[in-house]
Amino acid sequence: MALSDLSADELTRLESELSSEYDSLADRGLSLDLTRGKPSPEQLDLSERLLALPGEGDHTAGKTDVRNYGGGAGLPELRGIIAELLGVDAGRVIAQDNASLSIMYDLLTFSMLFGTPDSERPWKDEPKLRWLCPVPGYDRHFGITEALGIEMIPVAMGEGGPDMDEVEHLVATDPSIKGMWCVPIYSNPTGTVYSDHTVSRLARMAAAAPDFRVIWDNAYVVHTLTEDFPKVPDVDSLAAEAGHPNRFLQVCSTSKITFAGAGVSFLSASEANLDWYLGHTGIRSIGPNKVNQLAHARFFGDADGVRDHMQKHREIVAPKFEAAAAALGRRLGGYEVATWTSPEGGYFIDLEVPDGTATETVRLAKAVGVALTPAGSAYPYGQDPDDRHIRLAPTLPPLAEVEEAMDVVGLCALLAACRDARK
Ligand code: PLP
Repeated sequence: MALSDLSADELTRLESELSSEYDSLADRGLSLDLTRGKPSPEQLDLSERLLALPGEGDHTAGKTDVRNYGGGAGLPELRGIIAELLGVDAGRVIAQDNASLSIMYDLLTFSMLFGTPDSERPWKDEPKLRWLCPVPGYDRHFGITEALGIEMIPVAMGEGGPDMDEVEHLVATDPSIKGMWCVPIYSNPTGTVYSDHTVSRLARMAAAAPDFRVIWDNAYVVHTLTEDFPKVPDVDSLAAEAGHPNRFLQVCSTSKITFAGAGVSFLSASEANLDWYLGHTGIRSIGPNKVNQLAHARFFGDADGVRDHMQKHREIVAPKFEAAAAALGRRLGGYEVATWTSPEGGYFIDLEVPDGTATETVRLAKAVGVALTPAGSAYPYGQDPDDRHIRLAPTLPPLAEVEEAMDVVGLCALLAACRDARK
């Protein structure tokens, strides 16, 4: 029965049952962690062979000796594989070092210090800088814009992506809005895949700022939880057709394909944007780690090699998502107090609890040994105005621990909802 249909007596009884069950959890000495979207050791083991690649004596790719300086744009062999996965021309992808977050940080700091190819002046010299942030979103994106003093404006995420009426209105009317964060496929944390309509509107919309940019973070482009892979829109072509050839800056990496700490990151963009980016990176480095890039090219072989590899990840990860959903369903199912996403890919589940109870749910879970991402962390400045969203990351712990932790999360969410309803 829905929690809202329970009588005062029934609610009191339920709360007391849940409270005693909760109190007994303290004796179990749990230490479970659902905070960060990290691959599990089992997933990392899938790429163990990479540690022996490219291997002694294998250090030449085309005419490039990968051991030496140079090759700022990265190895064509690996760029070609990623370009095929992104559905773009190989010349439109460059390979860098291990973190796409570093590329994103570069993109913004270079814009701040020097301006983009379309800027009238460096962004730091603008009177005001603002940035659109679909919410809930990725906390580390918000960390970058916050660190650079760019004011963040939240925009609600819907089923097919951000609220485009709002986005179009804001971007068309406010020249201080210089850009927007987007995770178009299996968004962090909602799992949303942007619809074709959303993508086309983002590419076509008018922007008051001539140097408006969309950071198109395709971190989960091949991270399916099904047998199928998502369709990847060619945003550069769409934007170029609409007269905005430099709008999109697309990034991705192999962090959650091979090794989170030792993968390869990629930037795909227009020629003008890539020249601009490489012009600046050429000053801060004499070239990326091409040995690791060659190792990755050898490891994958081709784009199908990446897809096959991702299906092995799916075999490990999908059961954890299923177990998580089942545990939440068992605890919360009939009460109609919470909803949670069932993503077809990516690394997260977004749990929505009754307004004003997310912080309390996280506190209750922590007190019995289940660590969750702080409530609000999927919002700019860590502030969820409704205190409603909790990001759950089920990939890292073993399956049995995911089940146990999700059961505790469900119990804590229900207990918090019960106590709130009795206020
Ligand atoms: N982008 C998104 C949306 C993520 O969720 C993550 C990691 O959780 C990253 C980027 C980090 O990527 P990288 O390891 O390439 O820096």
